[in-house]
Amino acid sequence: DTETTVSITVVGASGDLAKKKIFPALFALYYEGCLPKHFTIFGFARSKMTDESLREMISGTLTCRIDQSENCGEKQEEFLKRCFYHAGQYSSEESFGQLSDKLRKQEGSRVANRLFYLSIPPNIFVDVARSSSLAASSANGWTRVIVEKPFGRDSESSAELTRGLKTYLKEDQIYRIDHYLGKELVENLSVLRFSNLVFEPLWSRQYIRNVQLIFSEDFGTEGRGGYFDNYGIIRDIMQNHLLQILALFAMEPPVSLDAEDIRNEKVKVLRSMRVLDVDNVVVGQYKGHTRGGVKYPAYLDDKTVPKNSITPTFAAAAVFIDNARWDGVPFLMKAGKALHKKRAEIRVQFRHVPGNLYKRSFGTDLDLATNELVIRVQPDEAIYLKINNKVPGLGMRLDRSNLNLHYADRYDREIPDAYERLLLDAIEGERRLFIRSDELDAAWALFTPLLNELEKRKISPELYPYGSRGPVGAHYLAAKYNVRWGDNSSELDSA
Ligand code: NAP
Repeated sequence: DTETTVSITVVGASGDLAKKKIFPALFALYYEGCLPKHFTIFGFARSKMTDESLREMISGTLTCRIDQSENCGEKQEEFLKRCFYHAGQYSSEESFGQLSDKLRKQEGSRVANRLFYLSIPPNIFVDVARSSSLAASSANGWTRVIVEKPFGRDSESSAELTRGLKTYLKEDQIYRIDHYLGKELVENLSVLRFSNLVFEPLWSRQYIRNVQLIFSEDFGTEGRGGYFDNYGIIRDIMQNHLLQILALFAMEPPVSLDAEDIRNEKVKVLRSMRVLDVDNVVVGQYKGHTRGGVKYPAYLDDKTVPKNSITPTFAAAAVFIDNARWDGVPFLMKAGKALHKKRAEIRVQFRHVPGNLYKRSFGTDLDLATNELVIRVQPDEAIYLKINNKVPGLGMRLDRSNLNLHYADRYDREIPDAYERLLLDAIEGERRLFIRSDELDAAWALFTPLLNELEKRKISPELYPYGSRGPVGAHYLAAKYNVRWGDNSSELDSA
């Protein structure tokens, strides 16, 4: 429609996330022809910048995919011409009024839709929601606001933030990002399950022994621990990213793919979960370690981290869903920094084959060779299924092999960044991948008692060496439920 236009204002444009993720994602959308014909991009922050200096700042971060290198420079020039900057105060209606005047100049007489991306610290979310909605809402189109975690640090502060935002915005104007939901393989989870006959019938306690949700980083806070120390790994990764994946994985089939149908099912499964119990949780913190002559620092060596901090940089948890589908199946979550590998994956371990003929007839020690489905979200996206297979030859010998869908081999294209998907959805009003406030409440209700208990009892984290597989406590936790972490055997995992 040539009569509408969308104005995207990145609030906090001088910051790290804006530079690293948001502007590059907007450019990628522009390159792909996904942005509406008429669009304008504004940066807003307190820093003094001109349109030119904003353009200069972001031009260095715009990249083209390999197959787009041809007219990359030209496209970047076109894109940058549509980027502008306005300096102002976050709590000032006057500043946002001036921004609104500038937006109007670009929008002309078209129906003007406005999207605000709050790429700022959470303590000023409500200020910006207030000043932008009062002074810079669209007069004739929609106005939407994207916010990023952290959404509070427990049930109470999250509810307060929601109340604050809802004073100025309606729920359907608020787009809460969990960027994990924009990842290609997380989106694919539902496709895999609901459009392949071979998976959905197995998706229950009858066939699945346990499910593992694993996130690890191979680096520590590296001088940026100030923010992290106030939250810790449970709030930073588990309560949002891993729990969101779990909800998508375990939800009942939704009535349709509509956002509200999907989010209804996610809320239901979250509300069927047992509140996390401190006895089912292990917390850890990395300590210094020297390997191959290289010295790796401890979390407490980070100058931005308070001395004697007991903030966990690692956590493992066993959680349970008390419904008919998942009764008794442990869902094991594990998240940590400064571990030996960088990865995010979902592992589904299936039950033993009852009365396995091959085990009986040949006495092969196949006890542990149950099927395992691995969905590797990042890096090097892949889906593979470990099966028992006959080794070719005249004898009868079985081994474990992979049925393997390795994205880089199968698809000759780069996978878009999660922020591209999410920004596009927000522009199009598709709310499926954003967190509704009742989902957020349910997520905090599961974690808040645990977080309070850890803090009240000042539970010390188990130390683990930088670059290791994490504290041994995580193994004992899994063993308590007769589970082995799938990522601890490197066998076949390179797929
Ligand atoms: P940031 O660089 O610390 O802040 C963004 C901008 O906000 C700054 O350039 C600054 O702009 C303004 N600002 C910073 N501190 C402020 C303060 N105390 N009071 C008022 N304004 C302040 O943050 P970011 O890393 O870009 O992240 C933005 C948001 O996304 C945060 O809420 C963060 O938690 C979240 N997030 C970030 C990442 C990431 O990878 N960085 C990932 C997930 C979520 P001016 O001084 O020019 O006004």
